[in-house]
Amino acid sequence: MDTQMLSILKSAFFRLLPLLIITIYCVLFSQSGLSQNNTDFPEITNEGWLRPFPSVQIVNNLYFVGSYELGQFLITTDEGHILINTGPHGSVQLIKNSILSLGLNINDIKILLTTQAHWDHVGGLAEIKRITGACMLAQKDDAPVLEDGGASDYKFPDGRESTFETVQVDEIINDGDVIELGNFKLNVHHHPGHTKGSTSYSFTTSVDNKDYSVLIVNMGTINSGVTVSGMPGYEDITEDFRSTFTSQLELSPDIYVSAHAGHFDFHDKYKPGDGYNPERFVDQAGYVEKIKYYQRIFTEHLETEFTDR
Ligand SMILES: [Zn+2]
Repeated sequence: MDTQMLSILKSAFFRLLPLLIITIYCVLFSQSGLSQNNTDFPEITNEGWLRPFPSVQIVNNLYFVGSYELGQFLITTDEGHILINTGPHGSVQLIKNSILSLGLNINDIKILLTTQAHWDHVGGLAEIKRITGACMLAQKDDAPVLEDGGASDYKFPDGRESTFETVQVDEIINDGDVIELGNFKLNVHHHPGHTKGSTSYSFTTSVDNKDYSVLIVNMGTINSGVTVSGMPGYEDITEDFRSTFTSQLELSPDIYVSAHAGHFDFHDKYKPGDGYNPERFVDQAGYVEKIKYYQRIFTEHLETEFTDR
């Protein structure tokens, strides 16, 4: 059986098998694991990462439960919740407060996801997994990075100290998979480049008979120290970034959100105290503009790197 065949079966398998079965497995077996001391991890210098921000209903069952600067998202379903991203170490109490302020319970989280295995977005996953017994799902190239706390990040081909608490991945997800929880279906899009396993998630929802296509997108931004023309730890980086921008431009969500507030102009679209109105987040043109902006930066980086060689 070749790998392509396998991955098609995997997608079909995912659609046929309710995730509840995997959830039960996680509840039974994920309670072990020692918490690591937060002082082991990098100092948080960006004040906005842990600055509290009110929870926001974005559209229907999608809620912002992040901080002022970092996008963390809760999706509620009839069988429990899905949490996409945390902040860095020390962010769990903020997430708990946000979820509580919505009248919801953190213990109902059944599935944990991330858009990218970088410490500012995954530092609370292990703790939330311990509290809730939720199932951690990740793309196969980010899974090892989550499991070693960032030590195998491609920027450091010789390895380094962990930058966040290690979290065990229960199930691998891939491009084209559909994650099912109760009646809710979430589409998986592999968007590599920023990390090898960067992933976006999409779904469609309806409010007052109006349909909204929604994308939780991982933006193709370039961290300092990354060379997009190729790296020892990530030889395919150029092609991955390219294909990600192409794939992202093929999507045309009505509403998009992302892992950093600035990636989706969050604070322009919403101010604390604003009432629930999904229309404020509808921004098809802004989405295209944003993707093209990061694509342009990538192209400029590439040109500069070739010039400097
Ligand atoms: Zn990152």
